[in-house]
Amino acid sequence: MGYTMSGNNKQQPVKEPAVSKAPEPKKPEVKGKVFISAEAFRAILLYAKRYANENIPEYDWKEVYGFLIGRIDKDNVLVDSAVPMTSGEATEVVFGPSHYTKAAELDNEIAEKNDNTFVCGWWHSHPFKSNPTSIFLSSIDVGNHLGFQGPNPLAIALVHDPSKMKEKDTPFGIKVFRLTRTDFDQNELDRYALDLNPEGNTKSNPTDIVYYAVPFEITGPTAELFADSLADVIDKTVKGDPLIKAYREDDANVTVSQEKLADARKLTRIQDLGKVDITDEAGGEEYLEPDIETLDQTPSAEEPSGLPLALPEEMEEVNKTHVLSVEDFASGDEELRTEEAEQQYLDALDFKKQKEFKMAADILKSTYRIYSKLNAKHKMAFIKNMLMECYFWAGDVDDAIVESNLVEKLANETKNQYFLGNAREFRGRSFLKRGDMKNASQAFQDAIAAFKKGSFNAKAGACAEMIARIYYNREKPDVEMAITFFARALLYYQNAIKNPRSMEPAWARDAFITNHGALLEKQAKGLIGELKDGTKVKQMKELLVNLKPWD
Ligand SMILES: [Zn+2]
Repeated sequence: MGYTMSGNNKQQPVKEPAVSKAPEPKKPEVKGKVFISAEAFRAILLYAKRYANENIPEYDWKEVYGFLIGRIDKDNVLVDSAVPMTSGEATEVVFGPSHYTKAAELDNEIAEKNDNTFVCGWWHSHPFKSNPTSIFLSSIDVGNHLGFQGPNPLAIALVHDPSKMKEKDTPFGIKVFRLTRTDFDQNELDRYALDLNPEGNTKSNPTDIVYYAVPFEITGPTAELFADSLADVIDKTVKGDPLIKAYREDDANVTVSQEKLADARKLTRIQDLGKVDITDEAGGEEYLEPDIETLDQTPSAEEPSGLPLALPEEMEEVNKTHVLSVEDFASGDEELRTEEAEQQYLDALDFKKQKEFKMAADILKSTYRIYSKLNAKHKMAFIKNMLMECYFWAGDVDDAIVESNLVEKLANETKNQYFLGNAREFRGRSFLKRGDMKNASQAFQDAIAAFKKGSFNAKAGACAEMIARIYYNREKPDVEMAITFFARALLYYQNAIKNPRSMEPAWARDAFITNHGALLEKQAKGLIGELKDGTKVKQMKELLVNLKPWD
């Protein structure tokens, strides 16, 4: 956790540490050793590989995390097992109430066993194949680990990169870390975002060691475990099941009681949040006129006969957990800081990231009440927009439509084109779920107008793509209109690559949009083959000729 794909730190000025008291350089005193059972290692490896393997494009590899269960013996830590938690995110995971609630639940379960084991640390993966020094703790990880090592000085943070298993200095692709001290404040953690070396010291003061590696050993496996493990992997491979599942992965939407949530909120947490990252300006590429004849070579017969109505699954996954940055939240109503409402917002953000949308919606309703009493329009628009999205992703389309009207009103009052477009987009999506294609199309058209005005090109593209799919999936498909809107979507996507905007979802700013655009272009060209009228064929080809190459 803590590796943003494109590095967003440039907006943050480096905060100088408080003068006068430079921290005493402290040589870490490495006490004891960590013994990791082969079973625990097996779980870490399998779960990390499940979300970062050869079947998944590297830009889509996800970090995963979990807890380590074990015992303390003098200065040694004996890790018996590793419990995978929910699947990770493409970038950093910041521990919040939902993580600590799960840890507390797990701790209760372990306590019932009465065998002196407890949560003795945590592990997570850094599947960064192209980064040679990928096994480190980021400033976010340091913050997360405070919650472990603060109460338990021997607690460990294990980092695993499955692509570094064969490297000499990182046997098993693992390093185990501890912090030199646990009294960091938020200012220091913020500074570490830019100042931390992968070796654990700081760039500004190389003698200031923040964390260090603890020696470890993998113990076992016994012949019995080895055999069981092989048999298990083979069984699951044959069935096509995932080789390992997360704790309670099969429980549908585990609901967390209010009481547990309140407890979880009391636990230490670091209020740093994953910020939306912005890619570097796309290089000004030469515009090459594609040869119109190449269109004729597209084998339309090979194209799938039906196009799915919704946007591609990967896009939807990112949309679900897309959260606007804390800076965006804070900008506007600067003078307005009510700690309670801000805390609620951060909690809701965390639940949204965990895809616990109902929980997030419940919190947001109360947050909204606070800001509306204060008449803080910018914050009200922000909260309502997130509430609308949460209702939608929770499957509650009626409430999503009601909220979308309020978001639109607030967006108009605060002149926010993104929220205006988003309100209309989610209204369209809700109508689509109800099967009301006519109203859905209209809402998407309105959304495009708003997104275009604010230069949110990727979002405009997604809405145009939805309209195209609606035309194609009608009882009597309107292929011409479908191609027209696909072509429009493709042009927006290409503009989005050229001018990425910070508020747009992550899929708009990485390789995904390039791959998706190229595939969509192929599909659109394929559709031309379905046109009966020769003049239309020519028109549609001309539409697509305006596209630039994708890579
Ligand atoms: Zn990390």
